[in-house]
Amino acid sequence: MFVSHTLSKCLLIEFSPCPQARRLFTAMSEAATPLVRPKRKKVWVDYLVQFRWILIIFLVLPMSLTLYFLDYLREVKSRHKSYKQRQIKHDENIIKVIKRLKKRNPSKDGLICTARNPWVTVGMRNVDYKRARHFKVDLSAFSNILEIDQERMIIKCEPLVNMGQITRATVPMNLALAVVPELDDLTVGGLINGSGLEGSSHIYGLFADIVVAYEIILADGRVVRATKDNEYSDLFYAIPWSQGTLGLLTCAEIKLVHIKEFVKLNYKPVKGDTLNDLTKGYIDSFAREFGDDNNDDDEQNVVEFVETLIYNPHEAVCMTGSFASREEVMSNGNSMKINRIGWWFKPWFYQHAQTALMRGEFVEYIPTREYYHRHTRSYFWEVKLLLPFADQWWFRFLLGWMMPPKISLLKATQFEAVRNYYHDMHVLQDLLVPLHKVSDALEWAHQEMEVYPIWLCPHRLYKHPYKTMVYPEPGFEQERRRGDTAYAQMYTDIGLYYAPGPVLRGEAFDGSRAVSQMEHWLIENHGFETQYAVSELSEKDFWRMFDGELYEKCRRKYGCVGNFMSVYYKSKKGRKTEKEVQEAENAYLETAYAKLDQPTDY
Ligand SMILES: Cc1cc2nc3c(=O)[nH]c(=O)nc-3n(C[C@H](O)[C@H](O)[C@H](O)COP(=O)(O)OP(=O)(O)OC[C@H]3O[C@@H](n4cnc5c(N)ncnc54)[C@H](O)[C@@H]3O)c2cc1C
Repeated sequence: MFVSHTLSKCLLIEFSPCPQARRLFTAMSEAATPLVRPKRKKVWVDYLVQFRWILIIFLVLPMSLTLYFLDYLREVKSRHKSYKQRQIKHDENIIKVIKRLKKRNPSKDGLICTARNPWVTVGMRNVDYKRARHFKVDLSAFSNILEIDQERMIIKCEPLVNMGQITRATVPMNLALAVVPELDDLTVGGLINGSGLEGSSHIYGLFADIVVAYEIILADGRVVRATKDNEYSDLFYAIPWSQGTLGLLTCAEIKLVHIKEFVKLNYKPVKGDTLNDLTKGYIDSFAREFGDDNNDDDEQNVVEFVETLIYNPHEAVCMTGSFASREEVMSNGNSMKINRIGWWFKPWFYQHAQTALMRGEFVEYIPTREYYHRHTRSYFWEVKLLLPFADQWWFRFLLGWMMPPKISLLKATQFEAVRNYYHDMHVLQDLLVPLHKVSDALEWAHQEMEVYPIWLCPHRLYKHPYKTMVYPEPGFEQERRRGDTAYAQMYTDIGLYYAPGPVLRGEAFDGSRAVSQMEHWLIENHGFETQYAVSELSEKDFWRMFDGELYEKCRRKYGCVGNFMSVYYKSKKGRKTEKEVQEAENAYLETAYAKLDQPTDY
């Protein structure tokens, strides 16, 4: 097995027509040992980052608490209104947006953009577009759940409704979104126009795949409802990953599923000599029921939740979960296995899961809402870098109830120098790669970045009637590898979030180079980078990674050119200073795609 794997790699290196692929394969074949790097001298920003915890504890945490409380009051106020009242308010707000759009003078006012401040969002990009001239449209009033329809099993949400708000409303009704991205603050609008996924995505796909209808205000002020099979079906499929560059989303109807009170979670440790061994354990933990048997629709026995955490190149914990009712938990004498992981003093979830490496495989029952938000308190493991002692028992007991600091406030208080430091010395990336390439991707990431822990979360990538920006590998239906079905290829989100090994060891690390290499690896291997993260992609490479055909058609058809900025411009890495942004503004207002476009019909 090993011989044939090595041989096939050698053949690929030797005969690959692309020099870049040859370089990458060569790098991968040597991936057992990370690169050796020279030591790096500390500069003043290192100390700012090291002692940032002081600012966080004394300023960010109290302010976060106040903001959480204000959000909660807003939510309670909204809950006291009937669905009808909320809908009336929604319609009034739509009229306000249309009036605002009518006021715009395209030649003077710049391109349309939501008025949301970049620091408020969860995404990490150093954006240009909000620092340059643009025409702001305020969507901040669109933050209500408009309806929970238990017959149609649909929740109607405005775009600023966040995941915490949705689970608070639906879980007590034993309902949930089919896909609930973990962090409380992630918004419906951001997850649709960007991307989102979760431990249930191996069944339901990405967040946008569970949406059944969008309400969108086009650049000319028309309000349209786009569904899979109405006259706007092209727009429906073009919206995900478009970053709000096709229209302003004002409402989404999203699929709900029935849930139970607990999630029965199985923690299985996997140890191995190589990352390939760990990948095998990960795939075995969930992929056996699919594809292999050609029984596409036999999903009866599929576990509802899957994730794997890789702690180092030799150890991982694979978790699989299914819903369990209170009766089931109580009747089988399992009440001792209930773990309320959401309590403020409990160990962080990734550290709790890690205990499986010592104690061996175990099962426990977690209240469902707490399971959905299991990574919120520690932002996976990012908080360990910000507050290195916040995982200690004394901190959890004393101040754990104030956690987590709001990402928006962390961003607002980090100053430009620290933000640029994170761009260069920190990795926060989600790589979507075909399941059969996960092992190669991990080897590559180990050699180039050495970021641990690593989050593995499988997700289906559907083959849609239109070729969307993100799409499965051509011909995957014929190959039918593990996890694949005739209508979707199984992918995996590889979440790399932390300071890379070299940075922790005080060695030189070139973040831009590493990200750029990663992007080329993804392009060569039919992978995708999520757009909230820092990117080094040139425009040409952006469109090598993402398919632009449908997007481009919709830009023309729906009057976006000259009105909304292009998705590449919105996603590209930002310039570092305001001055640079202003200077480059005109040159970058539209992409090559836009330049090809003709004036619209509107
Ligand atoms: C620390 C961290 C943790 C994360 N954890 C997860 C996770 O657990 N699961 C997960 O799936 N993802 C996660 N992400 C990534 C996240 O999916 C993206 O950031 C996503 O885009 C949602 O963020 P947001 O709600 O702040 O959206 P924003 O950044 O506000 O929006 C994303 C894009 O959508 C556009 N947009 C938003 N609303 C509208 C609208 N109404 N009309 C038109 N355009 C609009 C925005 O202009 C922007 O271009 C994480 C990111 C970070 C940094």
